[in-house]
This record gives sequence, C-alpha cells and structure tokens, in this order.
Amino acid sequence: MSETIDFSKPPEGSLFEPVASPRGLRLALVFGNESPTGRCPFYNIQCIHCDLGAGEGVSFTPEMNRHRLEFLKQHYKEILPKVGHLVIYNYGSTLNDKELSRETRHNILEFVAGLSSVKRVSFDSREQFVTADRISEMLEYLRADQSLSITLGLESQSEEVRIGHLKKSITRDEVDAVFTALAGHGRRTAVEMNVLFQPPGITGNEAITEAVATIEYGIRMMQKHDVLVDFNFHPYYPSIKGTKFFPDHPRAMMEHAIRSLFMIIRLIKQQSPESRIFVGWNDEGHDLQPTVKKMKQLLYSPAFAAFNVSQDEDDLQI
Ligand code: SF4
Repeated sequence: MSETIDFSKPPEGSLFEPVASPRGLRLALVFGNESPTGRCPFYNIQCIHCDLGAGEGVSFTPEMNRHRLEFLKQHYKEILPKVGHLVIYNYGSTLNDKELSRETRHNILEFVAGLSSVKRVSFDSREQFVTADRISEMLEYLRADQSLSITLGLESQSEEVRIGHLKKSITRDEVDAVFTALAGHGRRTAVEMNVLFQPPGITGNEAITEAVATIEYGIRMMQKHDVLVDFNFHPYYPSIKGTKFFPDHPRAMMEHAIRSLFMIIRLIKQQSPESRIFVGWNDEGHDLQPTVKKMKQLLYSPAFAAFNVSQDEDDLQI
C-alpha cells in the first residue's frame, strides 16, 4: 500500500525554531509553492547558489496551504503570542500570484493581523512582483501598528557578483522600483535586504569590502526613497548547486564575516541608526558540510544570538 504524504506539515528543514532578533522573537513560516511545478520559476534558470527553489516536490493548491496554515497555528500555539516578527517563505516569491495565490496570501495576512504581539511581517519575493497596488492591498489586511517588509535577495550590490557569478538577474533599476513600490507608507513598509557574505568569486578582504559596499548601497536606497532598510547577513555555505558551479569556493571565513560586521555596525550607527542587522545561519538542511557547520555554530552562535538582539559590537568580540 502506498504511503500518503501529509503536506500540511513542512519538511523537517523548513519547520523552524523561533530565534531572537532585533525586531523581537522571529519565526519563519514556510508555505508550499503553488506554481504548476511546485518550484520557483527561477530555479535552474537563475540563482546558481540556491537549492531552496526546488520546493517540496509538489505543486501546492490554496487548500493545501490552508491546511499548512492550520498546522502551523497548532504547532506554534505556545510560541505565537510571544512572536514579534514573522517571516513568510514559499521557496520562491510570495508576491507572485502564480506561486502563492491571493487567497493564500490573504489567509496568511488575516492570521498575522490577529496576532497582537506581531509588529513586523516579512514576505520573501523577487523584485518584479513587488508593485504599489499589491503592497497597498496587503497593508489593508494588517493593523496600523504592524509593518510589512519585503525580503529581497539582493545578495550583493555588485552586478558582476549578483548577475555575473550568481546568475541572479536583478538590476539596480529593478531594486529602485521595489523601493518606489514601497514608498509613501511612512514606516509601515520596509525592505529586508539579504547580504550574502563571501559570495562565489570573491574571498578575503575583497569579501569584507563587498559586504560593506552592499550595506552602503542599501542605506543609499533608504535615503533616496525614505523606506526603512534592515539587513539579513548570511555567511556563504556550500550548497549542491553552489558547489557544482563554484567547486573551489570556500565556506565563508567567520573571522572575516565578523570583521565585516564591525565595519557595518559603525556605518549603520553613523548613517542609518534605525536599520537593524540580523545574522542568519539557517540553511534548511542544504549545507553540504553539516559537521563543519555544527562546529562553527558551537563557536559563533552564542555571539550572533546575543548580537541579533543587542546590535552591539561588543557581543561579537570572540
Ligand atoms: S534565490 Fe529565490 S528567486 Fe532564486 S531560485 Fe532561489 S527561491 Fe528562486
């Protein structure tokens, strides 16, 4: 007899534990991708570093995602009243109607609006789906004391790195358009800009300089459009696809990541004191060197966990 898979429960690597963050207790909720293939449309076409876009191996329907939401409510029922920041993923773009229907998005937003402790919700999306109309429509579901942010996987300000090495075709004009779509709502909208530390093709001091330049670019966008920017700082780890295209590119040097963070903290203090940095380790089980990762985590996790709350460079003095 064939076994029926219960898709209401996310796979183990996508069922996250809450973590402390600069915007309160942060919990990532993962939904299925509703595209016809169940995958991100850019998977295997762009983003050579990304294994996540493969999805869960099935095309989700809005009904399946309704069951997923019910499961998540139940699973996190003790935690949810303490969560300040929810992050919504679907292995692709949560603002693309073909990957996450309006029905599913609205169900999620209604659920978020009912959580009194949640003050920030982030939706992960590629640039082209972030339109002013969609943002206004989504904000209508949220309470006035809640902000909506878009998680934008920019990874690097350098087009040589982003478009050339990572094969992620996001132009500067398209980034500008994301900020334009979010503008005009005061502090009710924000961008969470992903920064990949030591992306394929650069190492050593060059990686440090590049991460700082990416933060500077984000701050310039914030100042130009008056849209708050926070940063998700992710040290590079070897994934299946990353290793295929860049077999010799090493895992991020954590000593360099910390040196870079010292410079970034000072820069933010001077130029954008409202912005926050979140150092993320999660790989959803895609890190090809889990033992090395575990050792690094033992050493660095306590410092990053403290820093993610305090934003104080003293917490990174390891
Ligand atoms: S990085 Fe984002 S857009 Fe690119 S393949 Fe992965 S999920 Fe899709």
